[in-house]
Amino acid sequence: MVRGKVYLVGAGPGDPKLLTLKAAELLAKADIVIYDRLVGSSILKLAPKMAKKIYVGKRSGKHEVPQDKINELLVKAAGEGRTIVRLKGGDPFLFGRGGEEAEALQENNIAFELVPGVTSAIATPEYAGIPLTHRDYASAVAVVTGHRAGDAGRPVKWDKLASAVDTIVVLMGMESIEAIVKKLIEGGMDPNRPVAVVEQGTTKNQRVFIAKLDNIVDEAKKNSVKPPAVIVIGEVAQLGRKLSWFKTAR
Ligand code: SAH
Repeated sequence: MVRGKVYLVGAGPGDPKLLTLKAAELLAKADIVIYDRLVGSSILKLAPKMAKKIYVGKRSGKHEVPQDKINELLVKAAGEGRTIVRLKGGDPFLFGRGGEEAEALQENNIAFELVPGVTSAIATPEYAGIPLTHRDYASAVAVVTGHRAGDAGRPVKWDKLASAVDTIVVLMGMESIEAIVKKLIEGGMDPNRPVAVVEQGTTKNQRVFIAKLDNIVDEAKKNSVKPPAVIVIGEVAQLGRKLSWFKTAR
């Protein structure tokens, strides 16, 4: 049986122009595209009309397709098409479960390639004018998950992070922002530490809120901030006031 190749491809953070040339080329010749929730529709349009497009993200009110089902789907797709593009938001290896999918393909002897993408962890702060490692304020940055499921298996050491790094970037953190702030303050972080929240970063709907550790929760609530959003904790967050450059349609 001839088997296709599966490309695990990063779709970038939202702005379709941040897609890599390699991703665009692969999409243009894809037979099957398997995509997540955070992938924009204009990017999907780069795939041929005839290509089979399979959505495996969350549907409102329902759960995501479980990871083992996605893995099965990838293996099956390799038997059905020549070029299979598994399109993921941002970069496939940063909280994108690309590692698990690559393992599944490897175990089933299916050829695969990885195509890095521009990650929201760096690009959305950048579109908000926040340089994560501005030399005056930061020499270390940590990217962590705020998701509670992540906490269960391999808990984030918030108490240690509070003093170990200058800048913390939290993905999937909006639902537990209150608990995160509490743990950081308990860990000794200054309640006056600047914090920024970037909602729908790099898209025309981008909104940026900058506050302090002890009032960012109120600020986010007041403005009904919803996922996807990136939280940036650290002195660099305040630079977003000065360096804000991305003018959205609002
Ligand atoms: N692999 C992705 C991250 C997947 S986890 C990447 O490299 O970007 C999903 C989380 O990414 C969201 O909960 C949110 O925290 C963040 N995210 C993705 N796109 C975003 C966007 N346009 N604006 C703000 N946050 C975003």
